[in-house]
Amino acid sequence: MTVTKKDAIRAITTHYIDGAFVESHGHEVMDIVRPTDGQVIGRVTLADEEDARRAIAAAKRAFATFSASTMGERAKLLRRLHEVTSERIDDLTAAMVEEYGGVVRFARPIVESGVNAFAAAEKALREIQWVRSWDKTTVTLEPVGVAGLITAWNANVLFMCLKFASAVAAGCSVVIKPSEMSSLQARVLVEALHEAKLPNGLLNVVTGLGKTVGAELVRNPDVAKISFTGSVGVGESIMRDGAATMKRVTLELGGKSPTILLDDANLEEAIPPALGMAFLNSGQACAAGTRLLVPSKRLDAVKRAIADAMSAFPVGDPADPKTAIGPMVSQKQVDRVQSYIRKGIEEGAEVLVGGEGHPQGLEAGYFVKPTVFVNVSNDMTIAREEIFGPVLGVIAYDSDEDAIRIANDSNFGLHAAVLGTDLSRARRVASQLRAGRVVINGMTDDPQAPWGGFKFSGVGREYGAYGISAFLETRAILEVA
Ligand code: NAD
Repeated sequence: MTVTKKDAIRAITTHYIDGAFVESHGHEVMDIVRPTDGQVIGRVTLADEEDARRAIAAAKRAFATFSASTMGERAKLLRRLHEVTSERIDDLTAAMVEEYGGVVRFARPIVESGVNAFAAAEKALREIQWVRSWDKTTVTLEPVGVAGLITAWNANVLFMCLKFASAVAAGCSVVIKPSEMSSLQARVLVEALHEAKLPNGLLNVVTGLGKTVGAELVRNPDVAKISFTGSVGVGESIMRDGAATMKRVTLELGGKSPTILLDDANLEEAIPPALGMAFLNSGQACAAGTRLLVPSKRLDAVKRAIADAMSAFPVGDPADPKTAIGPMVSQKQVDRVQSYIRKGIEEGAEVLVGGEGHPQGLEAGYFVKPTVFVNVSNDMTIAREEIFGPVLGVIAYDSDEDAIRIANDSNFGLHAAVLGTDLSRARRVASQLRAGRVVINGMTDDPQAPWGGFKFSGVGREYGAYGISAFLETRAILEVA
């Protein structure tokens, strides 16, 4: 199946279990709707618990041999996975753009990071110290067991690649439950991964609902580890329900990330990246910098600079490389964003840009107006809750200490940014932020740097050696002298 042809409805009726595409045992069929025009573009037969159990059994059989593989064998597999996915970057990008309306300028780099995750895991694998010994003691790192990988829709290809790459590096077999809203993208990726001729059962992919397939992965005693990317509510349920089988969990959850604009920042240089971080993936990004903290004395200048810079963030067709903001993924998401914009107005924030309703000329799809609020205080709902849409709140502060206090006054702690000209001052501020990642002077990435959250943004880290260690147990063997 190739997800490039428009207007044909594609049907997916199989799951990937034990090295083959097999017909679904579950019967429920879900429509995949294109967010740019609300048209049905795909029909997916959803897996049930029985499909999940078959996949887990296949992964368990594969684990018995793959867990004993050498570092060289795993490195070779990761290289192959990198090769086969590299060949499908265009198809994977097109699927992401079409299925959830991700703008191509975001979708392509996200797909590339997914593909690069295999190369990055191979590099990290070589840097990990797998065995340490002293006196009569030997400590080794062992694969944790079968891993259940559950992903969110908003960068599903990246999450699948990243989690699978780390699991392979660690010696674990997996059952992936992609977001049901990413079924078409997931299928393109699985077709690519199939070309790597992996050992049967090492990779299993079962598309179904969270309450059936996801819940089975969480409660099944043959699954040792869950690596999850998604909302706080589901993350909490995984931690709670996983406790019955003592699951190891990695939870990558939501955010309400602060961007601190220091008072020495050059506005012409700082405002475009600040808006870029706020509107990342049309605002549907866990790391989106949706609270912009600005010095009170520069507030008027910042307002003018934001109004001027908005022309660089056009809303429209996500396939057009000039488009910065595409549609929301679903009507439900549109309603959610609209209700937060209404709430912001009710609570006394002032709309500087955007507001309720559709952008002109984009009434058909799930489009919303990118919105910037000023006069926002950090206790307003729009400053506390994750909206997951292109809505930015500008919050004024009085001193660096005040900015740090406001930035840290959040249930979340996933990502943060500091913008300013004096680098040592920016670093000093960054070092006091309670967030898993802090970027200075713009959004950037490093595939070996850890990713994950403080507080309600999650548990554990992904990427590089940090991500691999999340799939490992430590064993010590001690001999009597
Ligand atoms: P979601 O929590 O609704 O769904 C995520 C996945 O969990 C889906 O595959 C879903 O089917 C599954 N699921 C649902 N109920 C389940 C259950 N009871 N048991 C097991 N699995 C279940 O989240 P979403 O709407 O897909 O994604 C948006 C959320 O993800 C946002 O909150 C966003 O911040 C977060 N996110 C976090 C990161 C990160 O790296 N920290 C990255 C992207 C998205």
